[in-house]
Amino acid sequence: IKLDPVYLQNNKSIIIGSIVNIEDITERVRLENMRSDFVANVSHELKTPLTSISGFAETLKMNEDMEPETRKRFLDIIDGEANRLRRLINDILTLSFIENEEQSSNEEVVNIYDVYKRVEAMVKNNADTKNISIFCECSSDDISISANRDYIKQIMLNLVDNAVKYTPSDGKVNVSIFKDGGNIVIKVKDNGMGIPEEDIDRIFERFYRVDKARSREIGGTGLGLAIVKHIVIHLQGTINVESKVNEGSTFTVKLPIERKL
Ligand code: ADP
Repeated sequence: IKLDPVYLQNNKSIIIGSIVNIEDITERVRLENMRSDFVANVSHELKTPLTSISGFAETLKMNEDMEPETRKRFLDIIDGEANRLRRLINDILTLSFIENEEQSSNEEVVNIYDVYKRVEAMVKNNADTKNISIFCECSSDDISISANRDYIKQIMLNLVDNAVKYTPSDGKVNVSIFKDGGNIVIKVKDNGMGIPEEDIDRIFERFYRVDKARSREIGGTGLGLAIVKHIVIHLQGTINVESKVNEGSTFTVKLPIERKL
């Protein structure tokens, strides 16, 4: 609680009364804390690849007659870290754009199966490398929704990409898209490593990863699910996850076909 007294004085500067404005600032403080945590996390996440880039660049500069193989390895690391920075910056910008967008823009009728097909092509390489098969069960109903196409792609890509990333070789990913009453439902199920119960509530937080080192190693930014959650809220939908360690995870997104104004 914040008390802000204003003293009322008469023309001889004698205090004759006061007005106290009582304001509950719990929510404001919580939001401010969240914002400053986010800024601290962002700086840390951006500094890590930068430190690595400048470290390796410095070493290359100081050792002009380095073995070509070592030189190539160092350049590959620099390249990889630069890509990581690019992904981080893109995700931070996407998240901030979605958060600040009050009214939806670029809406069109989007067929969710078409979006799925594009996403499948995007993750195919990674899935093939691990011999992971991806199946889609799609109903013959009209599974279209009026929305920003990029938003639907972000939801689908982040969920399917995670399913592939967190599933060991020879695993299976099943996507289903169907209509349920007034909603379009998108389910992404994998038989991968699963999520421990104590982490489930936190995986939608920015930069929260169950295993930070592993997520980094496979190229994660820790922002994918935060982006998905914000888009789902924006589209007035819901998202939930069921998961068991070493058995797999199922993410279910429900998006209303008609949104409230
Ligand atoms: P990241 O870039 O690390 O993948 P996300 O925000 O997409 O970040 O996911 C947050 C964390 O949730 C991941 O680091 C991972 O620990 C966990 N996670 C997400 N999807 C899955 C999944 N399908 N199976 C197991 N763990 C998952």
